Amino acid sequence: MKKYRCTVCGYIYDPEAGDPPRANPGTAFEDLPDDWVCPVCGAPKELFEKMNQT
Ligand SMILES: [Zn+2]
Repeated sequence: MKKYRCTVCGYIYDPEAGDPPRANPGTAFEDLPDDWVCPVCGAPKELFEKMNQT
């Protein structure tokens, strides 16, 4: 699963870690609820960008 980076504060959403208690470990970014926001700065999902991984 892809990691996503907050373009506002640089927080990285790692699907393997999730965002407990709002998102269980293993939750893909795409599967987060639409009202999920960055746990650090409160930015909405639209301000996250997919990280390129090899
Ligand atoms: Zn943020």
